[in-house]
Formats: sequence, structure tokens, C-alpha cells
Amino acid sequence: MEKSVAIILAAGQGKRMQSSEKKQYMTLRGKQILTYSLEVFEKSFVDQIVIVVNKGEEEYVMQNIVLPGGFTKVSAIVPGGKERYHSVAAGLEVAHMLPEGEELAFCFIHDSARPFVTEEILERALDDVRKYNACVVGMPVKDTIKIMDVDGFVESTPNRDYTWAVQTPQVFDFDLALQCYRQLLKEEKNLLDHEIKITDDAMVIENFSHTQVYLTEGSYDNIKITTPEDLYLAERILDRREEMKQN
Ligand code: C5P
Repeated sequence: MEKSVAIILAAGQGKRMQSSEKKQYMTLRGKQILTYSLEVFEKSFVDQIVIVVNKGEEEYVMQNIVLPGGFTKVSAIVPGGKERYHSVAAGLEVAHMLPEGEELAFCFIHDSARPFVTEEILERALDDVRKYNACVVGMPVKDTIKIMDVDGFVESTPNRDYTWAVQTPQVFDFDLALQCYRQLLKEEKNLLDHEIKITDDAMVIENFSHTQVYLTEGSYDNIKITTPEDLYLAERILDRREEMKQN
């Protein structure tokens, strides 16, 4: 079977959480948030895991999360960068340098801030990346979306049948992602000059290749923990999982 690497992002400050503790290390029912994603990827078909952390936190993550959790697929813990896309680029470069780097077929780029990813989601994404070379997990948006103009008025309303909110993992042919991210870093200044913000991985593929990105069904539970309210929601999701296990 083709080899896959997961790049799990756990750098950044998570300022919107308004907490002195970084959200990736916060505890949810006795387990750190980063641990939830690691457990899912460790159990899955993925062969290698690269964790991207803030510079100086590598040893903390190794001693407090990876070793005690017995995560044997973790092959590197590397420092990220200022923006999320810098962290992804760092993770891809390190994955490429691993002994099995040349053989990697697919990369699963995942935010550690999404602890409720499941093996079923990973399987669906694997099917789609095999077919299309690029796919991102997401869900249809339940609200109607408005595009706003610079003065705060509605500019347009996209057809709700075609609006999705994207999540992670975002999954690509490994070489395609590596080439597109290298190109992004080369052209970073130009993008900044044009005020183009890179907010997900699909955008990098959309901008620097001709590959079309497919939308793979994720789950409404695959939330990103961003603000303090999300922690309450996360507790409710865990309660429901517990109830479902008992029934
Ligand atoms: O801050 P936000 O919630 O958008 O971050 C999404 C994910 O990207 C988080 O899992 C965070 O750890 C990661 N990230 C990163 N490097 C950055 C910024 C964010 O790895 N510079």
C-alpha cells in the first residue's frame, strides 16, 4: 500500500483562547488536546507522523505526550514558523528528509486543534486522494453565507447548495504538496503585497498547481477548538460519544 505521513500542527499561540496555557496542551477530560489526534493517527493506516511545535517545545512534547502515549509512529518533532503555512512547509521538508521520505505517496495535514477527527474520516480522505490527488475534509454549511464588501454591506450570496466549511485533514499527493509549498515560500512577498492570506492548504494547491481539490465529507463534530466556548462544545461531544458507546 502507498505510504502516508501525517503532519500534525501544534505550533502557534492560540491567542483567541484567551488563556495562558496554549490550547494544544490544554486538558480535555484528563487528556491533552494534541493527544486526541495523535491517538487517531497512530491507530490508523498512516505510516509516519511528524509533529510541528513552537521552537523550544520539542522536548516538552516528546517527554510529556509522545513517550508516555507510546506513539511509535512519530518520526520527528520539529519547530514551526510564524504563520500556519510556515509550519506546514517545515513539516513537509522534514518528512521529505526522513529515511522513507522518497517513498511517501500522501500527506495528511491536520490541525491538532481538531481533536475529534476519526479513522472513518481518514479512510474517506484516503479513497479520495487516491482518485483526485488532492482533497480536503469539510461539511456543507448550514447557514446562508454572505460575501461582504469593504463598507460592510452584502455584496453577494453564494448558492447554499455549494458552500462548504473546510476542516482538516487536508490531504495531498506528497510531491505535489511539497512543490506547491516551496513555490508559496518563493512567492510569499508577492502574495503579502497583494494582501492574499493563505488560510488553508487547499489554497496553496489551488494557487500553485492545476490540480482540482475535491471536498471529502468530514463530520460536524470535527470542530476546531479556537475560543473558550469551544471547550464546552468539546465536552458535550465527548459526552455523546460516551453515551453512544454505552448503547
Ligand atoms: O490558530 P488556529 O486555530 O487557526 O491554528 C490552526 C492550527 O494550526 C492549530 O492546530 C495550530 O497549532 C496550528 N498552527 C501552527 N503554526 C502556526 C499557527 C498555527 O502549527 N504558526
